[in-house]
Amino acid sequence: MSEKMLRLHSYESFGAVDGPGIRLVVFLQGCPLRCIFCHNPDTWDPQGGVSVTKEEIVKRARRMRPYLGAEGGVTFSGGEPLLQAAALIPVIHALHDEGFHVAIDTSGAIDTPEARQVLDLADLILLDVKSPFPDRFKEITGLDFIATKQIFDYLKEIRKPVWIRQVVAHGLNHTDAEKDATKSLIHGLNVQRIDRLPYHELGLHKYESLGIPYRGSMLSVPTQEELSL
Ligand code: SF4
Repeated sequence: MSEKMLRLHSYESFGAVDGPGIRLVVFLQGCPLRCIFCHNPDTWDPQGGVSVTKEEIVKRARRMRPYLGAEGGVTFSGGEPLLQAAALIPVIHALHDEGFHVAIDTSGAIDTPEARQVLDLADLILLDVKSPFPDRFKEITGLDFIATKQIFDYLKEIRKPVWIRQVVAHGLNHTDAEKDATKSLIHGLNVQRIDRLPYHELGLHKYESLGIPYRGSMLSVPTQEELSL
């Protein structure tokens, strides 16, 4: 029974940017990364949030169906959804059984057999590029680049459709060298869309209320030129 429960942070019922069409976005709780520009530190604690069953998620998707249209569907985000890959597998199967399009928004930083199964099953991967450089990746996230690189290679191998997402912060990853290396890293992926998202500080109040020191105070919003790829 317990392996079927997921830790949930929150839902967003009319997501318009996390995949095609209108989406039910399921923000799962827990993340092993500590991105310097993260605006959702409240999703980090894997013990936080609330427990939710597969049936509850599917029921909510069913209620949303009239609004999702032909293009929309369900997106699992976080936090890092691959942290709960084993519990996510039956949920994706259940959603597919009812005809829902399923997207996974991931950093790719978890490489386990279950994580790969989730990537196999999903219809679309929203793939976050933190940095193409291993040392900068570690500086940004606190993790080694190895698992992420393996997951990028795996997504190339299985030709899974991906949307690339990259937060760009001046003072961190805004340089032309980052752009060139990003192009090399994503070369060979089945890329359907690239979104370079400007750094912002909208989540700063969460750090204050959680009592977590904010590491990104030296960062600033990139120029349009820095944002282009
Ligand atoms: S992967 Fe996402 S949720 Fe996790 S620390 Fe990075 S930005 Fe935050």
